Amino acid sequence: MPPFASSGSRLRVRGIALRVAALATIVCALSVPDRGPATALAEVVESPPGAIRVVAQDSSIRFGQGVDFSLSLEGDADITSILTYFRPLGTRTITTYGYAEFAPGRKVTARLTIPTAAPTYYPPGVVFEVRYEVADAAGNRIDTEPLTVEYLDPGFTWRRLSKGNLTAIYHDRQASTIDDLLTELSRRVPRIESTVGADTTGTGDEYRAVLFNSNAEARRAFPFVSQAATEGHVFAGFAYEQYGLFVLDHAAVPGVTHELTHLIFGRATNSPTAKRPAWLNEGLAVYFETGTRSATAASLAGAIRNDRLLPLRAMNSIPGRPEKIDVFYPEAGNFVGYLIERYGEERMRSLVSALRDGLLPTAAVTAAYGVSLEELEAGWRRDVGARIEAPPPAPTTSVTSGATTSAPTGQSPAAPTAPGPSAPSASTIPVGTTSQPTSFTIWWFVAGLVITTAMSAAIYFVKRTRRGGS
Ligand SMILES: [Zn+2]
Repeated sequence: MPPFASSGSRLRVRGIALRVAALATIVCALSVPDRGPATALAEVVESPPGAIRVVAQDSSIRFGQGVDFSLSLEGDADITSILTYFRPLGTRTITTYGYAEFAPGRKVTARLTIPTAAPTYYPPGVVFEVRYEVADAAGNRIDTEPLTVEYLDPGFTWRRLSKGNLTAIYHDRQASTIDDLLTELSRRVPRIESTVGADTTGTGDEYRAVLFNSNAEARRAFPFVSQAATEGHVFAGFAYEQYGLFVLDHAAVPGVTHELTHLIFGRATNSPTAKRPAWLNEGLAVYFETGTRSATAASLAGAIRNDRLLPLRAMNSIPGRPEKIDVFYPEAGNFVGYLIERYGEERMRSLVSALRDGLLPTAAVTAAYGVSLEELEAGWRRDVGARIEAPPPAPTTSVTSGATTSAPTGQSPAAPTAPGPSAPSASTIPVGTTSQPTSFTIWWFVAGLVITTAMSAAIYFVKRTRRGGS
């Protein structure tokens, strides 16, 4: 378990601060992902005892801006080189490295800042690991022990509670409330994992949730989303598959389940060639909020009555227009629920498996269900009493995974909104004000999932209906 934002703001490094511009030097991306934290460099030579000594190693979080790392060293000869390796822990994250600039000497301090604001945004809860390779003029070299820091706002007193492989990171809430939440989630996870074929039992894989207590509080921690995109909708959460992490502005079971389902689905399709059509990714997340189709039936009734359902072939990515988003999520949830409840988990697992193997969504559906997506869609439309669509033109192949066109490695870390082809990003979803301001309540709306081959961010947001509309 990494330190808990502990080194936050308390420790300052001793020693002489020399000319260091380490940040600018952390520019070279290793092409090999998933370098383990304890991996030693092959060419490292054992140093004589005491030749180079670590005096102090520290980190300090400036939330929303960056994390500062420092390393103070003493040597029997002049220290001439400090190579810094940095990595956010997760799956298919990459290591960056660079040489720190400093004046060689027997006492040196190197400093490094990892920026966490846009454009290199990192979400709260991500764990950074830093280690150094140091050399001196006499030819001695050492590798330092990795230092890990969990990136959380030091302004809050964070607590954590784990149950099974789910950990909640929270503040200023009753532990019993979180315990109840985790108990319910633990009950739900096996069915979700079983449905998509993502058994993590015994793998050590962990899902982590950073839970804020209000949207105003969480907004400081969320990635930047343009004013146009947030108008009428308030983002409530983001999921980061590559870090096994989601961030949410509340701690209610449906929202937590929604985000967790994204992580589980992401794990089940963890492959550079995987395709993740939005109707399935969001459909699973919406369906498992309650685990029943009836919850989305009411939301869909108007769209069915007014013949506003979207064709599934147009649902490989999240639509941009608010009136379509309003239909997209309940429709995806209801259709996926129909597949699960009517055809069973085994076929859904086959579908997910085929997508992981890189089949296009239409081909994966046919492989898993033995009929085309259009035929399944027609069956579902009959089931919900909707008009049956005319035979469609050739289906599109756009999906929310960038696997077909982009390399799986070598991307800069963290930008949470980078979309795959045709995928809307958090900053480009032009959600406007609602045109049907019939209720003054706030209701949990939908989520968007944006995935690239190396990263993903799922967006769970709230739609606020407005008095009188606009
Ligand atoms: Zn979602």
